Amino acid sequence: MEIKVGVLALQGAFREHINAVRKCGVYAKEIKLPEQITCMDGLIIPGGESTTINKLLKKYGFKTYLDNFYKKGKPIFGTCAGLIVLSNDIKGEKAGLGYIDITVERNAYGRQIDSFEESVNLNLNYNLNGKNFNAVFIRAPRILKVGGNVKILGKLNGNIIMARENNILVSVFHPELEDDTRVHQYFIEMIKELKKKGD
Ligand code: GLN
Repeated sequence: MEIKVGVLALQGAFREHINAVRKCGVYAKEIKLPEQITCMDGLIIPGGESTTINKLLKKYGFKTYLDNFYKKGKPIFGTCAGLIVLSNDIKGEKAGLGYIDITVERNAYGRQIDSFEESVNLNLNYNLNGKNFNAVFIRAPRILKVGGNVKILGKLNGNIIMARENNILVSVFHPELEDDTRVHQYFIEMIKELKKKGD
C-alpha cells in the first residue's frame, strides 16, 4: 500500500519529522499550501509555537481543508505545539481545532525544567512495544483532562504524554528528535489501518 504523509511546514520542527517518516521508508512531503494536503493520507503538525502556527493556518486559509481531511477520517498527528493546535480546550485561551477531546495547559512544566528528557514506557501496539522510548520535552504542554473516547498511550509521573482518539494522535514530547522511529511507525500503521477501512 502506497502511503503519503504530509508535514505542515509553516513553522517549527518540520524537517525532523520529514526525515523520521522517510527513515520509515514512507513518502513525506512538506506542506506549505492548504491544497497540498488533499492528496495526502496522513498529516503531521509539528512542534514549534502554537500561537504562530494558528496564525499562519488562518492566514493561508487552512481551516476548511483541515476540517475536510479530519472529517474524512484521515489521520493527523500533532506533537507538542501541534497537539495544542488539535485540542478542543486550551486553558485560558481560545480553543484549538477541536479534533481531539483534550484540555491542555501550555508551557505547564515550570521554568527550571523547560526542557528535559526521560525514558518512558509507551503502549504502541502494532508490534512496536519493547524497550522504553527516550522522550524529549521542550516547553511541553500538560494534558489536564481527556474525554471518554481518548485512548491513553503513555504516561509520565501520572501525566498523559501520548494519546489517540480515532484518527487523531498526539504527543506532548518530540519523537522526531530521536533515532528511534517507533512513534512515527505507529502513526504510519494507523494510516494503513484507517486507509484499509476507508477503501
Ligand atoms: N510552548 C509551545 C507552545 O505553547 C510548544 C513548544 C513545542 O512545541 N516544543 O506552543
